[in-house]
Amino acid sequence: MTRDAGLERLSAFLAEAGTAYAQARNTDRGPDEPATTSVLSPYLRRRLLTEAEVAAAATAALGAEAAASYVSEVFWRTYFKGHLETHPEAWTRYLSEAADQRARLASEPGLRRTYEKAVAGRTGIDGFDAWAGDLAATGWLHNHARMWFASIWIFTLRLPWQLGADFFLRHLLDGDPASNTLSWRWVAGLHTRGKPYRARAENIRRFTEDRHDPAGLDEDPSPLAEAMPPREVPLRPADAAPDGPVALLLHVDDLHPESLPVGGARVARISGLLAHAEGVTDRVRGADGAALADALARAAAHFGCEAAPFRDGWAGDLPVVTAWAPLGPSAAALPPDCLRLRRDWDARAWPLATRGFFRLKRAIPDLMAA
Ligand SMILES: Cc1cc2nc3c(=O)[nH]c(=O)nc-3n(C[C@H](O)[C@H](O)[C@H](O)COP(=O)(O)OP(=O)(O)OC[C@H]3O[C@@H](n4cnc5c(N)ncnc54)[C@H](O)[C@@H]3O)c2cc1C
Repeated sequence: MTRDAGLERLSAFLAEAGTAYAQARNTDRGPDEPATTSVLSPYLRRRLLTEAEVAAAATAALGAEAAASYVSEVFWRTYFKGHLETHPEAWTRYLSEAADQRARLASEPGLRRTYEKAVAGRTGIDGFDAWAGDLAATGWLHNHARMWFASIWIFTLRLPWQLGADFFLRHLLDGDPASNTLSWRWVAGLHTRGKPYRARAENIRRFTEDRHDPAGLDEDPSPLAEAMPPREVPLRPADAAPDGPVALLLHVDDLHPESLPVGGARVARISGLLAHAEGVTDRVRGADGAALADALARAAAHFGCEAAPFRDGWAGDLPVVTAWAPLGPSAAALPPDCLRLRRDWDARAWPLATRGFFRLKRAIPDLMAA
């Protein structure tokens, strides 16, 4: 998992699937056929590639009109990030509810049996079982498969959504606190309240090109409900980098140090912090480790200083700066006295992400021009 590999994938996507993206992106041809989407999410999740450069490359290669649907999808990622930053309870509640639901698995054999069949792909539901297997085997699923899977998990198997989100977060190579938690909440009818995503057999047949034809789905379920939606809080302000020498701490939420807004600071030391969500697979750990190593090597070349192991005293008496880590394992593990720098992309977009997506969507032309 390196930036070069991400750049290669980006060029291949723009040369091949890019022009057909708007028409083909909802079709899931399965793991044995070329993808209809870019499969750049593991790189974007770690910011080995930035949203800004991917959106700009798509616009330059395809033209603004043809790239619009792709750029809008990239902004879904930004939207979820901004929304979670301003609704942190969606994450903290998820963490504690997922722990409660995992405890239930130990004490409720009926729930445990259904859960174990679901994660092992042994429910007998066509499609669902294949997606459970693909996720475990590859660490990735097409967006439509994620929607169908989550909907069947919640409404047909009647499993707690938090356990599904936890299963995804452990396995997905792009596993992301904001996109994952809020997408599961959206499927459940909690994010857009009262409007669940309903998986329908006809839709699955059509968009898997008849590879899957599930029977017995609950196609007209009631949405889940919660007493209080997560409260909105003001966006926490970012810091500015001081002028003069600083120590730069990298983490897996932002691994393009070359484009960090360090202003008049001079990076004199570098280190990297590795933090994962609970229980992630070795594949995810490996990808995080490789991505961080790649970014440290690039940062060392770019700033002209060696990377030091992350341990007490690594920064000497220099102020430590870091890229803003959105809510999640990196943010929780960062030393409290770091100066946290926010990229322009996030600073402009996140204030527009407090409610639904469409406010941000309307601003995309202005944001892209900026
Ligand atoms: C239940 C569920 C859980 C999800 N969990 C995650 C997750 O943990 N991490 C994650 O990155 N995405 C998640 N998604 C969103 C989406 O499925 C993936 O981002 C997308 O499938 C990645 O494939 P791609 O790179 O080929 O996307 P493309 O279609 O090529 O889109 C380009 C980029 O835009 C962003 N993007 C596209 N669609 C979405 C979307 N619906 N929401 C947010 N960002 C999007 C991604 O960064 C993606 O790489 C989830 C969706 C659902 C329904």
